[in-house]
Amino acid sequence: MGSHPLVIAGPCSAETEEQVMAVARALKESPVSIFRAGIWKPRTRPGGFEGIGAIGLKWLQKAKEETGLLMAVEVANATHVKLAMEHGIDVFWIGARTTVNPFTVQEIADALAGTDKIVLVKNPVNPDLALWLGGVERLYNAGIRKLGVVHRGFSTYDKTKYRNIPEWQIAIELQSRFPDLPLICDPSHITGRRDMIQQVSQQALDLNYDGLMIETHPNPDKAWSDAAQQVTPDALKDILANLIVRKPND
Ligand code: PEP
Ligand code: MN
Repeated sequence: MGSHPLVIAGPCSAETEEQVMAVARALKESPVSIFRAGIWKPRTRPGGFEGIGAIGLKWLQKAKEETGLLMAVEVANATHVKLAMEHGIDVFWIGARTTVNPFTVQEIADALAGTDKIVLVKNPVNPDLALWLGGVERLYNAGIRKLGVVHRGFSTYDKTKYRNIPEWQIAIELQSRFPDLPLICDPSHITGRRDMIQQVSQQALDLNYDGLMIETHPNPDKAWSDAAQQVTPDALKDILANLIVRKPND
C-alpha cells in the first residue's frame, strides 16, 4: 500500500457534492492517499442521518477523476458492493457493526470474490480477536489478497475518556500473528473527540501501525454524523506534520 504512514481521510458521511469535492480538493494537497466517505451509515439508533445513498457514489467518482485519490466506502451488504463496484470505488471497508456478523461478512466476501479491490476489515464492536480474524479469513478464502485491518476501538458500558476503548493489546496480538497484514488505526472512532486525535495517532505509530484513518470535514461542527470527532483538512495537515514517524524497519 505504499507510503508510510498510509493516510485515509475524508468525511464520516458524504453529505453534498460540494462537501465531497471541497474535502477531496483540500486533501489532494496533503499526504493522503485514500479518500473515505460513508454512503450508507450504520446508525446505532434510528432517526438520524442514515447516509445519502447511491447518489453519493457519483460524487466520489467525480472526486476521483479530478484528484486521482483512491476512493473508499463502507459496504454492509452485497448490494452496496455491487453499486460501489459500478462506480469504480477502489477500497471497500467492513464496519464494526458488520464484522460481528459472519453471515454478512460472508455475503460481502462472496460479492467481492474474484476482484483485486482493497478490502479493510474494522474490528468488531466487541473485543473479540477471533471474530476480527474470522472476517479477514472469510475475505482471504474468497480470493481477496489486498487486505488490511482497521482498529477503531471497542464498545464499553463504562464511562471512559474514549468513545470506544482501544484495548491496544488486541490489535498488537493481531499484528504479531499476521505481521504482513497492514494495521490501520482509526483515532476518530476510538476517541470520539478531535482534541485527542493527535495523541492517539502518535500512540499508534509508536506501536508500528502502518496507517491512520482520520475523519475530515470542511465544517466539522456542522457535520451530519460524528461532528465532535472530525477535523478540518487544515487541522489534519497539522496533525500529520506533528507526528513523529519512524521508518518501518528502524
Ligand atoms: C465510520 O467509519 O464512519 C463508521 C461508521 O465506523 P465504525 O464501523 O468504526 O463505527
Ligand atoms: Mn464516523
